[in-house]
Parts: sequence; C-alpha cells; structure tokens
Amino acid sequence: MRITNTKITETVKEIIGEDSLEIVEYLRDKKNISDFKIAEKTKRDIHEIRNILYRLYNHNLVSYYRKKDRQKGWYISYWTFNKKRIKDLMDNLHHSKIEKFTERLQEEELNKGNIYMCPSACIRVNFDKATDFEFKCPECGTILNHQDNEKTITFLRDKIKELRTVKNIAK
Ligand SMILES: [Zn+2]
Repeated sequence: MRITNTKITETVKEIIGEDSLEIVEYLRDKKNISDFKIAEKTKRDIHEIRNILYRLYNHNLVSYYRKKDRQKGWYISYWTFNKKRIKDLMDNLHHSKIEKFTERLQEEELNKGNIYMCPSACIRVNFDKATDFEFKCPECGTILNHQDNEKTITFLRDKIKELRTVKNIAK
C-alpha cells in the first residue's frame, strides 16, 4: 500500500488533531529541522509548536535529537517526520473502527425493536432505560418515540463489511 499525502493527512488529523497538520505538512519531506525553524516557518508560538511535536512524538510520528547551541548556550531540538509509522497507525485505526462498529452492532442487535428516542434527539435509549425515564425525555420532557433500529443494524453490518473489504485490498 502506498502512503499518499491524503492518507498522511487523514491519519494525523484523526489521531493527533487538526492543529498538527500544518507542522506535518512542513516537516513531511524534511529532516532534522529545529523547533525554532518550524515555529518561524509556520508562524506559530514556539511553546505551541513544542506541544504539538511532543504529541506527534508520543505516537512515534516524529523523532528528534537535542543539541546545545554553542553561541546561545541553550538546547535546540531537531525533528524528523517518521512517514513509515503512518501505515501502523492506519492499521490500528482501521482495527479499532471495526471493533467499535462491531460492539455497536451487538448492542443494537441485543435491543432490536426496543429503542426509544426523543423527537428532539436529546437521547436514544433501550427499553429498560426508557422505562426508568417513564418514556419521557429527561432533558426536555417530551414523550419518547419508539424507533425501529432495523436500519441502524443494516447500516452497521454494511459498514463492518465495507471496512473488512478495504482491509483486504490494502493487504
Ligand atoms: Zn428531549
């Protein structure tokens, strides 16, 4: 599987957050860039930059070394983006998505035909919970509607199937 720029962007955005995209964009094809230079090039505060860099580091998306600046007398860190790591993170993300959807599907199947929802979408609960609330929304007081969750179940099944297919193509 090729690691395209789109995949890098999507993965980084999902795992680290949108605020890191600019830094990754800048670092992507470079090596050993100082935190000061990153701050200067992206026009952002050095502390903010360091915060994001360490978040990337926590997921092994960057590596760095520190060196003492002889003239200034302080330490400067030099950062490199670890592109290879994207594939592992994508796999993990993919796996946890399948897991999450499978858990939701089990939950929906367990409560098939027994879902209750507030018309204003404040809550969505199973029969037992709806009984506890006396079929009234605890947020806004409206009577809860019975909801057929057949569509949700179909959606989740399709979603899991789709994720598994994508996985097979990727391998
Ligand atoms: Zn409500």
